[in-house]
Amino acid sequence: MITAVGDVMRACYARGWITTRDGNASVRRGKSKFLHITPSAWRKNVIFPELMIRMEFDKDNNLVIPPGKNPSGELHMHWLLQKDIKKTRAVVHAHPTHVVATMYRGFDLQKVCTQFPEIFRYTRVGGLVGPLPATSKQLGEATSKALGLGADGSLKFDIVGQSNHGVTAVASDPWSAYEHIERLDHICEIILKSGVSPEEVENKPKVFFS
Ligand SMILES: [Zn+2]
Repeated sequence: MITAVGDVMRACYARGWITTRDGNASVRRGKSKFLHITPSAWRKNVIFPELMIRMEFDKDNNLVIPPGKNPSGELHMHWLLQKDIKKTRAVVHAHPTHVVATMYRGFDLQKVCTQFPEIFRYTRVGGLVGPLPATSKQLGEATSKALGLGADGSLKFDIVGQSNHGVTAVASDPWSAYEHIERLDHICEIILKSGVSPEEVENKPKVFFS
């Protein structure tokens, strides 16, 4: 599981979804006291298990930063999404090119997904997170809200887009989170290559319904 985090970050890098020091990911096994998270500013194409930072949840469910360690700047977002889980969860944040371009062009990702079964059937896309500064608490809170985070740690969606920035995907393991990003990026690439405008998609009837 922890090895898979490095594999996923390398795959994200190979696809151009992150530049060398971008992106971050965490994993927590169900009910474990520990969260494993990528280090800040480290080259994500060379993440190996021994480089992952292991952080412990204290009695108040806060994360303790080990001395001398520098966890991801998006730690607050990972903490929010991992603190109340019942089952194993992986959280992956990346900047997939076609998704970011699609949001920047003004498309509504949820509306786009009503047009294509390949994403609709397997990946639940939440509402858009507005443009917020990277590594800010506001970004973590808006992302958790858009994912439909409940008090019991449950989520209503698998992935959300963050305007002018990227996506955060959540699943039971790192590769499943990667697949949510891959499906959404593929659909966004199709949309952009079709030449359709955001207004045209807005006016198209829903083909697939939730
Ligand atoms: Zn980012």
